Amino acid sequence: MSGLALRDVTKSYGDVKVIHGVNLDIKDNEFVVFVGPSGCGKSTLLRIIAGLEDISGGTIHIGAKDVTDLEPVDRGIAMVFQTYALYPHMTVEENMSFGLRVTGVPEAEIRTRVAEAAKSLQLDPYLARKPSQLSGGQRQRVAIGRAIVRKPEVFLFDEPLSNLDAELRVHMRIEIARLHQRLGSTMVYVTHDQVEAMTLADKIVVLQKGRIEQVGSPLDLFDNPDNQFVAGFIGSPKMNFLAGTVENAAGGRVRVKVNGTDTTFDYPLSGQLPSIGAVVAIGSRPEHLTANGTGPASITGAVDVVEQMGEVGYIHARTPDGTHIVAQAQGRQDYAAGAPVVFTFDPARAFLFDQSGMRLR
Ligand code: ADP
Ligand code: MG
Repeated sequence: MSGLALRDVTKSYGDVKVIHGVNLDIKDNEFVVFVGPSGCGKSTLLRIIAGLEDISGGTIHIGAKDVTDLEPVDRGIAMVFQTYALYPHMTVEENMSFGLRVTGVPEAEIRTRVAEAAKSLQLDPYLARKPSQLSGGQRQRVAIGRAIVRKPEVFLFDEPLSNLDAELRVHMRIEIARLHQRLGSTMVYVTHDQVEAMTLADKIVVLQKGRIEQVGSPLDLFDNPDNQFVAGFIGSPKMNFLAGTVENAAGGRVRVKVNGTDTTFDYPLSGQLPSIGAVVAIGSRPEHLTANGTGPASITGAVDVVEQMGEVGYIHARTPDGTHIVAQAQGRQDYAAGAPVVFTFDPARAFLFDQSGMRLR
């Protein structure tokens, strides 16, 4: 078992820099999830840890060992890919044992490890089959089994569930959580699915354009985002953002006017106050907006659509200036398209961001 440390890691392809000085510590046994939009560098960073990509600068330690210049096989890692990458001409048993055989593990030991992994992944009935005779979920379990038998210090997963249907994805997500509990190994997991990130991670790393935006536990990031990008990325449906203007700033508080409305509210800040006239983004989660409630911080809108998800409904509306906002409401929501609605938000649970997207605290 081992932790991991990345120091000032950079990566360029030719003239294009795709990873810009990443520093990250991952503890022994930790389940760390990399999230971020497509193209932000999640796979590149994972492949760098695996040793499948050379880096342009920086160092990588696994446990106490500097692995920066080591080959993938010497790093003590095992990687599971979205596409499974199974050998089509080999049986399940051969796929799982191949890596051990080439590294000269004794035959009896191979048999024990494969049997154990097959049992824990419910693959025993399929050991003699070829990958083409398996379902997508079974193939993914073989790929995971092939990683387990190597007893790696660190497991690396690159979107392992993206090719599965919704039901199987939920099932395998729970399997992976169990696997982590049982093996207690360090796991680094890449996904663009924030539900996977929220449910699996001890620690989430939010990436954008090859940089770390924030690192924290799922609830840290949800409750306390450092910037507008993280605030908008974590949470579903997304946080609402309204444009506002600072009308007054003194004595540890600002008065903010919601643009295009007569609504103003006071907001305490302990840091440096923005200047009067500064434009801010007001962030409020759908869970914290009330439809047709009462309170000073209200915005009128017209209903666009209602998504009724059983006992919870999401009311989508447009403000007079066309901003899309969503409120979560308990119970059945009966709104016709175009119906007027008043959303009230709780300023105490709102977030303010300056024009660069930094959180005002
Ligand atoms: P993600 O996994 O987050 O979707 P990637 O790590 O695959 O993103 O890619 C990060 C960036 O690096 C992207 O802009 C991508 O186009 C670029 N990139 C990835 N691999 C290569 C490559 N072999 N050559 C040039 N650019 C690459
Ligand atoms: Mg990727």
